[in-house]
Amino acid sequence: MKEEKDSSTGGTLSQDSNQYQIGIDMGGTKILASVINSNGQILSRNKQATAPEQGSEAVIERISDQVDSVVKKAKIKKEQISAIGIGAPGPIDLDNGVVIFAPNLGWHNVPLKKSLEEKTGLPTHLDNDVNVGTLGEYAFGAGRGKKSVVCIFVGTGIGGGIIIDGKLFYGSSSTSGEIGHTIIKVGGPKCGCGNRGCLEALASRTAITKQLRKHILIDKEPSLLTQINGNQLDTIKSGSIAKAFRKKDKVTVKVIKRATKYIGIGIASTVNFLNPEMIILGGGLIEALGNKTMDRIRHFATKYAIQHAMSGVEITTTQLGDDAGVIGAAVLAKQRSNK
Ligand SMILES: [Zn+2]
Repeated sequence: MKEEKDSSTGGTLSQDSNQYQIGIDMGGTKILASVINSNGQILSRNKQATAPEQGSEAVIERISDQVDSVVKKAKIKKEQISAIGIGAPGPIDLDNGVVIFAPNLGWHNVPLKKSLEEKTGLPTHLDNDVNVGTLGEYAFGAGRGKKSVVCIFVGTGIGGGIIIDGKLFYGSSSTSGEIGHTIIKVGGPKCGCGNRGCLEALASRTAITKQLRKHILIDKEPSLLTQINGNQLDTIKSGSIAKAFRKKDKVTVKVIKRATKYIGIGIASTVNFLNPEMIILGGGLIEALGNKTMDRIRHFATKYAIQHAMSGVEITTTQLGDDAGVIGAAVLAKQRSNK
């Protein structure tokens, strides 16, 4: 095995063209699986519905089938796979590879690592989905070549992952990066964690949708969103919000402006506290809203941060999109199996 310095991951990687990893990104609605080579390239893909209502055993069985499927599709042998990496939602018991609690899946203490190892015969490494996405962006996405990076994913909630000196930072009980639960507005809206005024309760996609519904359905403010989103507002797609925003829909602009200001403030606090080289923002809504929104976020981050802390900090967006999860999971598999 040849060792060479790989600037893309900021460290030394073992290069072996015969070795691949499988990256798995498990979400509440879909599971993505891919075979990935040492350059972070995707050789094959498989996507399945999670269907958590069938129980954890059925979900794990399906992941095992996905593993076989992507190996076959990549035209390689299973022996060429060194390990599986998997990102799963919720807090994870990293030492034992157990999903402690994942409300979207209805999972409590599921020994995902052990079950998948038994079914596939391959060493499996588990981490939470935000850490895995962060690792992907750091190694092969926007954060390439940096040493300290914070990734912030705006979705149903707001999650954060921290890389310090090229490694994920976990903290004493592996909960580091919960930027979504930094309190931005004392006495603000109630958050899923039980507190009030957390960033997540103010600026996640869930919070944005809730505010849009309130303005349109309760306060009866006119909005293009009703027609853009197909005459119902039970679920509002990121694409619809972005479209209404581009068309300067008054309600949407107001809600997005407020949310992005809070995200900017959240970034300012992160920069003051950690002073990383780069902040990477991701999630479907951020991607859909585009550059103008990023300029606004940068503006507020700069306005509220200590000037010296912010100087030189890049605030950018994810580059890998939906692939960050599978690529990051493969990087995790490679890093942990090299230990
Ligand atoms: Zn909270």
